[in-house]
Amino acid sequence: MSQLDVRSKGAIDIVASGQLASRVEVGNGFELVPCQSTEGAFYVVSDDSCTCPDHRYRSAVCKHMLALRIQKMLDAAAANRKEEPAF
Ligand SMILES: [Zn+2]
Repeated sequence: MSQLDVRSKGAIDIVASGQLASRVEVGNGFELVPCQSTEGAFYVVSDDSCTCPDHRYRSAVCKHMLALRIQKMLDAAAANRKEEPAF
């Protein structure tokens, strides 16, 4: 089995930290994702853009974008579970 790359691991660390559960939506599909290296700093992130250096200078799908995508999938799954009838 291959190892996760650095960005995938970073994204999972962000999601696992729970920080995105209380993320702030700023409109037009953009949300604030906390910066991991500077406390109190945030990046403005959407599905295909981020204000962090990794994305701006390298056009990478950075860990913040990946983390936001993963969190949205988890949120959608949780919403679906709530709609299932109790038994
Ligand atoms: Zn980023």
